[in-house]
Amino acid sequence: MVTSHKPLDRTSTFRFYAELNDFLSADRRQRDFRYSFTGSPAVKDAIEAIGVPHPEVDLIVVGGVSVGFDYHLEDGDAVSVYPVFEAFDISPVVRLRPKPLRGTRFILDDHLGKLARALRLLGFDAAWKRDAEKGALVARSLAEHRIILTRDRKLLKSGDVTHGCWIRHTDPREQLSEVIARFDLCAQARPFTRCTVCNGAIEVTDTEQARREAPERVHERCDEFYRCQSCGKLYWKGTHYERLKAFVDGMMSGKGS
Ligand SMILES: [Zn+2]
Repeated sequence: MVTSHKPLDRTSTFRFYAELNDFLSADRRQRDFRYSFTGSPAVKDAIEAIGVPHPEVDLIVVGGVSVGFDYHLEDGDAVSVYPVFEAFDISPVVRLRPKPLRGTRFILDDHLGKLARALRLLGFDAAWKRDAEKGALVARSLAEHRIILTRDRKLLKSGDVTHGCWIRHTDPREQLSEVIARFDLCAQARPFTRCTVCNGAIEVTDTEQARREAPERVHERCDEFYRCQSCGKLYWKGTHYERLKAFVDGMMSGKGS
């Protein structure tokens, strides 16, 4: 065993958010607590010494500025540690890894139906229900680890909400640009893999059966068909597809708005 001859003469304050609290003792959960150390350890080592595995961490903020795992703690630092995006602005943000730990999944409020369909078009799991009751929306976001997207700031202030984002724009196209930028979604997009109507997964389907269902004018042009695995809606690459593809390409290249 290595013993330190130096006393733990320095202190910083830590706070862990959302599910990272699962790794902490009860007296350290959901609150600031003091952490004593000596020298200037890397923040990653301090986080792990506290008991939180570093792969669970997606964002570290010290004194309002995001830092990497290799940041060295200083006496008096106030450190906030996040698993994924939280319900308030943190900028500028330096992400610890190029891709988030988990697939980014959303749930949208009643007013954001068009944004939900646009996100689905890009392949994102975007739950949305007309007239969804707010309590049910929050409960589903917690149960399924979905980030709430909403125009309702009051909703985000609800004590139960752990992951949420207030959408600033009112135009659906600008809203989509906003969400792509905010969550750095370009690399995760899988356009045309999700049903825009119901959020189900789309897969290649039997051509003969699909031809029986599709309008006759489609038969000659299309020899590949896709079906939503949830609602059964049939998709093919018709003229509508070209328009949507141009839209998707524009959004992905940052020229969407
Ligand atoms: Zn569907």
